[in-house]
Amino acid sequence: MDVHTVDHPLVAHKLTTLRDERTDSATFRKLADELVTLLAYEATRGVRVEDVTVTTPVAEAHGVNLAHPRPLVVPILRAGLGMLDGMMRLLPTAEVGFLGMVRNEETLQASTYAERLPADLSGRQCYVLDPMLATGGTLVAAINFLLDRGADDITAICLLAAPEGLAAMEQAFGSSAVPVQVVIAGLDEKLNELGYIVPGLGDAGDRLYGVV
Ligand code: URA
Repeated sequence: MDVHTVDHPLVAHKLTTLRDERTDSATFRKLADELVTLLAYEATRGVRVEDVTVTTPVAEAHGVNLAHPRPLVVPILRAGLGMLDGMMRLLPTAEVGFLGMVRNEETLQASTYAERLPADLSGRQCYVLDPMLATGGTLVAAINFLLDRGADDITAICLLAAPEGLAAMEQAFGSSAVPVQVVIAGLDEKLNELGYIVPGLGDAGDRLYGVV
């Protein structure tokens, strides 16, 4: 499994402001959106393309278009929704599927409460959006859901990861026949006893949308 930490001063700057507890929800949403666009640039390095020829005002030029079937972007509800616009800015012709996963705060186990995805994902490249890779339970369950439907190339985009989450991903997909890649803006120290990333940024859903 390939893990790519995007090392760029703008990414580090936006991430630092996201972490700051004084950052309000409106600013947090805007920064998360911008940060995801920067991560998406790296995450889509392997997006499939097909050769095309276009005619410029001067001559023919050989180039590429995004291949079919189009990539599928899958935000994990609720916090992944805060990453969707930033991703679609770079991949406006991608399709979007939704996966609602909830984590039991006592057992930390993830379960699916909603899904709106094509039944057959054969031949699809999928980009899963989940801001916090903490225990890894949610992301592992979500990726297994996509693999069960036939997805054949998966990239998870996360703002922050804990070593425990990356280890869970490696254990689940380290020897997977389907390529699984994780792109993150930062790798933090650890999880605390409540399953929060330390130092992290708190509850990403609450920071994006307020506490419900
Ligand atoms: N989910 C969050 O929103 N934050 C964490 O730190 C861990 C999981």
